[in-house]
Amino acid sequence: MTPDTDRPSPDEALSRRIIDLISAGRARSRTELAAALGLAPSTVSLRVQSLIDAGLVTERGEGTSRGGRRPRLLGIDDTSGVILTVDLGGGHARVGVHSLSGALRETRSIPVTLTDGPEPTMAAVCRLFDEVSGGRPIHAIGISLPGPVDIATGSVTQPSRMPGWPGFRVGEHVRQRYGVPVAVDNDANLAALGEHRAQFGATGHSITVKAGTAIGSGIIVDGHIHRGATGAAGDITHTRIDGSGDIPCSCGNTGCLETVASGASLVRQMRERGRTEVHTTADVLALAFDAEPEATSIVRTAGTHLGQALSGVVNFFNPHAVFLTGSMSASEPFIAAVRSRVYEACHPLATQQLRIEAAQTRADAILHGAARWALDNLELPTAA
Ligand SMILES: [Zn+2]
Repeated sequence: MTPDTDRPSPDEALSRRIIDLISAGRARSRTELAAALGLAPSTVSLRVQSLIDAGLVTERGEGTSRGGRRPRLLGIDDTSGVILTVDLGGGHARVGVHSLSGALRETRSIPVTLTDGPEPTMAAVCRLFDEVSGGRPIHAIGISLPGPVDIATGSVTQPSRMPGWPGFRVGEHVRQRYGVPVAVDNDANLAALGEHRAQFGATGHSITVKAGTAIGSGIIVDGHIHRGATGAAGDITHTRIDGSGDIPCSCGNTGCLETVASGASLVRQMRERGRTEVHTTADVLALAFDAEPEATSIVRTAGTHLGQALSGVVNFFNPHAVFLTGSMSASEPFIAAVRSRVYEACHPLATQQLRIEAAQTRADAILHGAARWALDNLELPTAA
C-alpha cells in the first residue's frame, strides 16, 4: 500500500474482500466465497490458504454437503492475536483491544498530559498496550491524534494544537517498539471511519461531525477516508455563517461555525446572558435536557447553524448519511435542528435517502475507526 492513500492494490483488495465477507458472515466456505466474488474456486482456495498460513483465517469444522465433499467452514482467527488502538485526547488516553475482525473487546483509560511532549506520553501509552495485550501477539496498531496529521509520516502537522509534537513520528516510534504496522490519523477522520464501517462496511458515502467543545468532521467516500490535497478536507468548523455576529475565531477570521455552534460557544453565550453557574458544555446540555428555555434555545440555534454549514456540503457531496458524534450529539433538540435546517435548505434529490442521526458507535467511534484503519494497513498476502 502506498503511504499517501488508503486504497489497497487490486491484489490486496482481494484478500481484504475475503476477510470482509467472512467477518460479516456473508461467506462461510471457499465455495460461497467463489460465488460471492465471481471468481474461480481454485483462485479463491489459493488465496484462502495464504490467509490461513498468515494466521488471519481459520477452519472451523465442516458444513453440510449438497452432494459431494462437505465444505470446510471458515472464520476469522480471533485467537491468533489482537489489534490495539489508542484515542489520545487533551487529558486522557483511551486504549482499545480488538479482535482481528475489528470487534472492540476491552477499553482502558489513563490520564495523560499532551503538553508533556510525545516521548513520555507514548511511553505511558505503550505501558498500557503491554498490559492489555497480556503477551498475546499484536497484529497491528491504530493511533488517533487530536489534531491534523500527516499520515505519510504519522506525525502532527500543527504546532499550535500540540506543542512539542510536530516532527515527532508517532507511527514510526511505536512501530520500532512492536515491529507491526502502525496506522495514525486524526480523531475526526477516525470517528468518521469507525461509524461509517459499522453502518455501511467498505462502501457508501458519509460525513461524521464531531460536535463537542469544538467541531470537526470527517468525510468517507466509497468506504474510505477522503483527506483532500493537503489533509484539510472536512474542516467544517471555519465555514462562515451568515448572521453569526462577527465574533472573532481562533483561526483569525470572524463569524466561523466554531464561534456560534461549538460547545465552547454555547458556554460563552450562556455566560453572556448572566448564567454564571454554567462552566462547561455538559452544563449547557444538562439544562437543555431539562428543557430549560434559554439553554434549549441556544442549543437549537447551534444546531440550525451546523445544519446551515452542512447543507452546502450535502447538496454538493450527496452522502448516504450525516452522523453526529461528540457530547452535543446526545441532545435531541440539537439533532432535530440540524436535520430540519438541512432538509429545508437542500435540494430534495440530495436528501431523498439521507439519514441524519447520532452515531451508533458513540464514545467508541474513534477506537472503532482506529482499528479499521489499522486493519486496512495490515500486510495481507497479495499472491498465493
Ligand atoms: Zn475560524
